Amino acid sequence: MSDYLFMLENHLSVAQNRVVAEVQAVATEGNVSLFLAGGAMRDMLGGFQVRDLDFAVEGNATRMAKTLAVRSGARIVSTDEARRAVELVFPGGVTAQIALARQEKYARAGAKPQVTPGTIQEDLRCRDFTVNAIALALNRAARGLLIDPMNGLADLNRHELRALQSTSLYDDPRRLLRLLRLKIRLGYTVEERTQSQYLAAREAQMERFVSRRALCEELKQIAEEPNPGEVVRVLQEEGLLALFSSALAAGKLNLAGLAKLERARRLLPPDAGYLDLNWAPFFLALTEKLSPKERAALLQATEMRKTEVSPWKNLPPRTKKLENTVKAARLKKPSQVYGVLSKAAGNEILYLLYQSTMRLVHDRIKNYLQKYLALAQEITDAEVQAAGATPGTPRFAKLKEEMIVARVDGRTKKPPPPPEPPPPLPGARRGRPPRSLTM
Ligand code: ATP
Repeated sequence: MSDYLFMLENHLSVAQNRVVAEVQAVATEGNVSLFLAGGAMRDMLGGFQVRDLDFAVEGNATRMAKTLAVRSGARIVSTDEARRAVELVFPGGVTAQIALARQEKYARAGAKPQVTPGTIQEDLRCRDFTVNAIALALNRAARGLLIDPMNGLADLNRHELRALQSTSLYDDPRRLLRLLRLKIRLGYTVEERTQSQYLAAREAQMERFVSRRALCEELKQIAEEPNPGEVVRVLQEEGLLALFSSALAAGKLNLAGLAKLERARRLLPPDAGYLDLNWAPFFLALTEKLSPKERAALLQATEMRKTEVSPWKNLPPRTKKLENTVKAARLKKPSQVYGVLSKAAGNEILYLLYQSTMRLVHDRIKNYLQKYLALAQEITDAEVQAAGATPGTPRFAKLKEEMIVARVDGRTKKPPPPPEPPPPLPGARRGRPPRSLTM
């Protein structure tokens, strides 16, 4: 196994490794060359947690995504026809993008690129920053080979963001926003010539050419950042927030609210598997001080779609309903609190923590997140099976629920820890088998 494959396997979660194996199997079957690229490679090599798996294929990405949807139960969340890229969410919450390896040509600054299929080398040369332009071959012939035409590895080691071309930020001015966001997230510096290019592009007001949809996509990506408040603050400082909303830029930015939301989010365990957690609470906190008219202007400036609007429109009434249930006096036992909150969506819990003023509500949510959830996770399927139920049957689900209730209410004890191994015999060596006595 190559060092990079070994590194990858160790760096990814169990669920992500499973997805890599499934995508590889489908690529092999379809005789398509597959690469892991972009942010996934940057994060693995830079020692960051891998958030999404970015695959590039020299072949039909859409067909592969459809096969994966059938085969692995992955859900296709969006398809970008122009870039021939598909976003997928796999069971267990692993997110992945499968994109055609392509060449992009810009007729003029800020124009829509002309996209044609390309090799992985050509694809990497069209990306934004060198640290995002590294790929790992996952196809049978070259499995484990690192492809790094722009020497991104050196920039990762230097902790520097370097644009691939002298016109990168002009060709696609959304990269101005991506540069600031990545700089904040990774804590990297911007390489000198890239910084000069940024200043020149700003002088030429290239940000005017960021499309409305690109602004919306960027806003959604900011919501997923570990520190969205800081990203928004820097956009404000750099004079870029007005692209989204002149009211936000003119002093209606709710930075204190965003900081409060970030504190609330830290209470949610990262492995709880909450989907669609961030977008709606982020948007509501960000725009809290805007009038309905100012909010409408923001929707127009970003061409926000119905599917992007309804999550935050529906969240306040859903959260109110949840608050009423959580504060109810009838919830006497921990298992009853567990029963209510385990059925709630992550964004409801997060937004409730953000805006409820009731101490009781906060205490119950914190107990759920910090104690009951962990206790419930201790009940494994193997334990339920050992108690006499067959997996997949209604009895199995019922018994598991009963066992969870008992554990959360403290009516059953944790299983005892495995017995300690016996102490080593006096004189025995550590780590090596004892030598044969006849030697
Ligand atoms: P994240 O961790 O936020 O997902 P990411 O770098 O993976 O970070 P994506 O928006 O998912 O961000 O993009 C995946 C990859 O696609 C990037 O790493 C980069 O190589 C490439 N890419 C994305 N947007 C652009 C762009 N505007 N211009 C050139 N390349 C881009």
